[in-house]
Amino acid sequence: MINLVRSGETPYKDLNKHAEWLLRNRERLKEYRRNWEITNKDKRDASKRAYRKANHEKLRTRATERARERYTEDEEYRKVVLQRNQLRHRGYDSKMFEGQPCFYCGSDNRKATVDHLVPQSQGGSNDISNLVPSCRQCNASKGANSLEVWYQIKELVCEF
Ligand SMILES: [Zn+2]
Repeated sequence: MINLVRSGETPYKDLNKHAEWLLRNRERLKEYRRNWEITNKDKRDASKRAYRKANHEKLRTRATERARERYTEDEEYRKVVLQRNQLRHRGYDSKMFEGQPCFYCGSDNRKATVDHLVPQSQGGSNDISNLVPSCRQCNASKGANSLEVWYQIKELVCEF
């Protein structure tokens, strides 16, 4: 633990001087804060929880704003949101296959996500007949590849 005030240093009564001192010691204060958080995890968590509770509305508005911004700027993200909304509209959600074994590798100890057999980018529909449970690893590795292409890539890269 480091001491905030070095010996010989007295806290300033003058606010301007105190502000200067804070600026001069910014790095030290940061380190002090980090150390405090490490040794006072419980207190930190409690205060974070309290902050979140007290600022619930503000935080939610900020998150919405950020998502909206990303939606207009990030085309990939826009696609994901639209796809999610479309699925939700049909009564499906991202957890609809949870607990089911992965369609591709058969693993059932990984959370199953919803995957499009024929990728949407290749005209695959959001119909249930085109949706399969897939573990995150397979889903991420398959990406926008068709099944045939993906199997070829997978064979080249690893055995499964
Ligand atoms: Zn899998």
